Amino acid sequence: MDYNPFEAMKFSYENCFLCGVKLNENNNSDEHVFPKWLLHKYNLWNKTIHLLNNTQIKYKDIKIPCCKECNNQYLSNIEKEIESVVTSGFNTFNSLDLNSLSKWLLKISYGMLFKELSLKLDRKDSSLGNITTEELLKSRNMVHIFLQGIKVEMNFSMNVPWSLLKFKLLREEDSPNFDFGDIIANNFMYTVMDDIGVIFCYGDNGIGKEMFDDKYSYFYDYALHPVQFYELCAKVFYKNSLFNKNPSYTIIAASKNPEKIDVISHNVSGSVFNDWDQFEYSKILDYFIKRSGYNAKIEFVKPDKVSTFLSYNSFDNYIKYNSLELNDFEIIKK
Ligand SMILES: [Zn+2]
Repeated sequence: MDYNPFEAMKFSYENCFLCGVKLNENNNSDEHVFPKWLLHKYNLWNKTIHLLNNTQIKYKDIKIPCCKECNNQYLSNIEKEIESVVTSGFNTFNSLDLNSLSKWLLKISYGMLFKELSLKLDRKDSSLGNITTEELLKSRNMVHIFLQGIKVEMNFSMNVPWSLLKFKLLREEDSPNFDFGDIIANNFMYTVMDDIGVIFCYGDNGIGKEMFDDKYSYFYDYALHPVQFYELCAKVFYKNSLFNKNPSYTIIAASKNPEKIDVISHNVSGSVFNDWDQFEYSKILDYFIKRSGYNAKIEFVKPDKVSTFLSYNSFDNYIKYNSLELNDFEIIKK
């Protein structure tokens, strides 16, 4: 691979996270990993997010070094596009070009990792090093190359390298307006923004979406209860974690500063998933349902049955949650 802007990357606050240019007082700026419009819209400035080391950081403090050119020219264009469709709600959002959305999500994921590189693993004990190591960041070489699509034309032949799923969500009085989760080790992200639910897996060459569409495509026709969305997150995340291939890509660019980059995704073949285990899945489901903010009890019944019971509003009412094959909830008395 001749074209590899990542090789020149320096993971310090003296260089732009995107293009690597050396920063000085004339070209220096801060890029908010979670953009300012999002922080305003969902009142997130002083809210906190958990990091890999289990400490918390305020959304407003998640900033990474960026040159003015990347920030004001390229990143702000993407932000304008995403802000406009998110503000308009799901139906407009659904028509958004998937490439724009994938770039936006990849920037957040990569930005979080970059930020964590600068934070101590244990803030009380600096000998433990930083949360993100430079090695971990280097393993994101491919993500960094895909991010160059923010600045130059990027074409994918064969498959795009990710799976992106979008769902319309039902709104309830106590539904979360915003949620975000990023499980970096599994290249998995999800977000909730009002009536929009997005699941994003990268590095799977679209296999996750292909499989999902085969079995569950009818969910695109319904507005999902928030809990149903979190159950889908659990299903897609667990399946994705069973993916046992490491796809490779050929990057074709005319020069070190190309105007156009072609990416060829190499097909993976053979058995690409490890076996699904319902007990493991029940634990993942438990995690995601808790994230939804609803009270839930996940039951695993041998040999392979997983049931979910939700308490709803008060402990007097339970929702008997009959899995995703049914598109509604039946409220039953305890
Ligand atoms: Zn730059």
